Amino acid sequence: MRVCPYHVFDLRALAAADKAGMSWRGRLKARLHGNRQAFVARPDDCHACGKCVAACPEDAIRLA
Ligand code: SF4
Repeated sequence: MRVCPYHVFDLRALAAADKAGMSWRGRLKARLHGNRQAFVARPDDCHACGKCVAACPEDAIRLA
């Protein structure tokens, strides 16, 4: 969220439906992160600059 110049991401609490499809490792990580996660809220605003890819400590973002 901090590196995106176009405010593509929002941070929000994970709902039960979000966690239902997560692995136990994912649920553990979510708990360690305060049960919050960044979501792509405005995908049409993305300019594919790659800053979020380089900054993500979990290597969880891919540009498609
Ligand atoms: S690639 Fe898209 S989402 Fe990622 S930092 Fe750049 S504009 Fe934001």
